[in-house]
Amino acid sequence: MRIEIITTRDWTQWLDARRADGLERRLRVGQSPQGVSMRVDGRELLAFCSNDYLGLANHPDIVTALQIGAARWGVGSGAAHLVNGHFEPHDALEFALAEWLRVDRCLLFSTGYMANLAVVGGLVGRGDTVVADKLNHASLVDAAQLSGATLRRYRHGDIDDARRQLMRATGTRMILTDGVFSMDGDVARLADLMALAEEFDAWLVVDDAHGFGVWGEQGRGSLAELGVIDAGVPEYLVQVGTLGKAFGTAGAFVAGASQPVEVLLQRARSYLFTTAQPPALAVATLASLSIVKSGNDLRANWRARVAALKRDLPPGIELMPSDTPIQPILIGDSAEAVKWSARLAESGLWVPAVRPPTVPKGAARLRVTISAAHSTSHVAQLIEALK
Ligand SMILES: *Cc1c(COP(=O)(O)O)cnc(C)c1O
Repeated sequence: MRIEIITTRDWTQWLDARRADGLERRLRVGQSPQGVSMRVDGRELLAFCSNDYLGLANHPDIVTALQIGAARWGVGSGAAHLVNGHFEPHDALEFALAEWLRVDRCLLFSTGYMANLAVVGGLVGRGDTVVADKLNHASLVDAAQLSGATLRRYRHGDIDDARRQLMRATGTRMILTDGVFSMDGDVARLADLMALAEEFDAWLVVDDAHGFGVWGEQGRGSLAELGVIDAGVPEYLVQVGTLGKAFGTAGAFVAGASQPVEVLLQRARSYLFTTAQPPALAVATLASLSIVKSGNDLRANWRARVAALKRDLPPGIELMPSDTPIQPILIGDSAEAVKWSARLAESGLWVPAVRPPTVPKGAARLRVTISAAHSTSHVAQLIEALK
């Protein structure tokens, strides 16, 4: 039974149906810092679920930077960036990120969700068209809907379908895609999408939340990994990165040419009407950026662990096609996925069942994520438990 629409103030039926469908979600309380080994609800678990891909969320240098930042700049920013919440560390971080990505300019946001709302709603609106991959992150879907532009979704990774949607589009066109897809771990066909953006004179927005830091020269993300921006980043290309994943801190940035970034600063509502992230956090992220840039050893680590997982996987268990730290095991049924996850938890492993609406109906999966902080024996433990 599935009840989608509620017409009374009593949600009992909806909550019960959710439970029956294996879709109920539950908070777990961490009792140790973010890391591959965590104490959770009184138990020690080996975690394969975090987006802390480089193991930086509890890195001593970044913790120290945050402490120094707080001692120097206090805790709260006190206001939005355009009121009096923009401080030297924010400015320094924006410059450092822009230099790292070889773009004109970066703009900081409090979260990736808000950065996406800004980019889409800031650059297109009613009468325009957003052409979006069907498996895009929820924040991109919401951003497109909130923008007032017409949303046309193309089949996942299907460039011909994207072209068809672009041909039918009206107004200013925007192609919207994840760089690395968050629940599948595969990569957008960015070279083809760039060609489409040129052909149709469209914006191309790439949300590389799971690519920045993770791969590409100096961790510069999917565009660098695929080698498609060797000639420089074109004006129509706007990138979104989040700082709460591989960077291990919090917040997000938009990176691009001067003009679109200036437009966002002038008019994006999720930039204007929200409090700036604490300046101390920007100090911490600057420390994180320097580790990200020189982190080839960390990137080699997760690649080696992923290779080991693929090599030693027991027969009967199949990973989805992915060369990133996101290595999902497709199960299908939500209740079944929850059962798998519970069994792995009994073996001391934390592998979450990802269910609709995060993924399409019937495509529930165990979302295994590998981190640079996992050791070979951690991966061996996972493989043993899967057997
Ligand atoms: C996590 C994520 C976001 C949201 O970023 P937050 O900083 O967590 O709000 C946006 N896009 C993608 C693809 C993500 O995976």
